[in-house]
Amino acid sequence: MEKINLHTPCFILDEQDVTHNIHEFKTALNSYFTKNIIGYSVKTNSLPYVLKIAKDNGCYAEVVSYHEYQLALKVGFQKDYIIYNGPMKSKESFLDAIEHRAIVNIETWRELDWLDELPKNQEYEIGVRININTSIVSPEDADHPDDDSRFGFSFESGDLDKVINLILKKNNIKIVGIHSHREPKTRSVRFYERVICYVQEIILKYNLSLKYWDLGGGFFGCMPNKPTYDEYAKAFFNTLDAKLREITFIVEPGNAIVASGFDYIAEVIDVKTHDGKIYLCTDGTRNDIDPFFHKSDYFKEFFYQSCDSVVSQFPQVVSGLTCLEYDRMFTIPAGERKLSVGDRIIFHRVGAYTMSLTPLFIHYFPTIYLKNPNGHLSVIREEWCEDDFIQKSKY
Ligand SMILES: *Cc1c(COP(=O)(O)O)cnc(C)c1O
Repeated sequence: MEKINLHTPCFILDEQDVTHNIHEFKTALNSYFTKNIIGYSVKTNSLPYVLKIAKDNGCYAEVVSYHEYQLALKVGFQKDYIIYNGPMKSKESFLDAIEHRAIVNIETWRELDWLDELPKNQEYEIGVRININTSIVSPEDADHPDDDSRFGFSFESGDLDKVINLILKKNNIKIVGIHSHREPKTRSVRFYERVICYVQEIILKYNLSLKYWDLGGGFFGCMPNKPTYDEYAKAFFNTLDAKLREITFIVEPGNAIVASGFDYIAEVIDVKTHDGKIYLCTDGTRNDIDPFFHKSDYFKEFFYQSCDSVVSQFPQVVSGLTCLEYDRMFTIPAGERKLSVGDRIIFHRVGAYTMSLTPLFIHYFPTIYLKNPNGHLSVIREEWCEDDFIQKSKY
């Protein structure tokens, strides 16, 4: 196989893959909901090019801080194509978003006070995030016995009731939406069905005239043996009470849109043998593809330079460029083909919660290439160098 001229380590974005995921998800939602919105979760991968793809394909930007709000605007999202969530809103951006008809879901008490600063002679709309305790709502999907959440207002504690009543007293503010994001480890369809059952039982009591239900994110993308976009959408619709089926149904996928669109390539730069193992050093790092350090394996492929295949009698420890002892990606068991300097490892499906969490540790941000439909590569983010690193610093 001919070696492509790439500057490693690097990410490669397949634009068609991301576009395909958005369209498939949208088609699934359209099959059931007359009104629906995909809010792309910016934090999952906030590369400007990805945001542009989301925007150009009709997604809203789901942002969770004033920085992300500004980023979405910079990339060209209109304010009424922004969903503004999370605790880290600034007062200024919160009021700006509401005044310009963004979808804003209240997360903190201080936002209730900020509402009083809106002009009284106009009516404004907001949504409220409800707390979802997975252990209560769907124990089978809980990660541990006390799988609580620190987000949203709790019905059980009385906080949700308090928030709703405080807002009902404000004559110019209407509650038009409910936000119920919670991400189960299992990403199961059953979990979302139970969330919908739990939430609608509560909200139907309040007789609010809701315009939207924002279910949040946490879904699988196109993966063998996993729920499809259609299975999710169908379950959402079928679980919703008939009284709620006409509202705008919002999903906020990140992982399901962007995970499969990115590959990461690292090249072997050194090989040592000791302690009964082969230690391969690559120019990549686990910080780029597993910043939480909890993956034990990857969807991966090897590209060998040489045609003759030599079997290794030792396990091969594939590790990264940093000086961290634990910057080891995976181990190839003994008896597999030997990797040599210049061989490459390609990691697939690494677009979600990878590059948006990479620290600037030892090696700065790697090159990102865009792969166009003919397989041609062009740089969409240059590797960061010392000048990028020191920007805004005094020394
Ligand atoms: C993180 C997040 C999402 C996206 O989660 P994925 O697992 O990437 O789909 C959606 N909504 C909110 C509020 C989030 O915090």
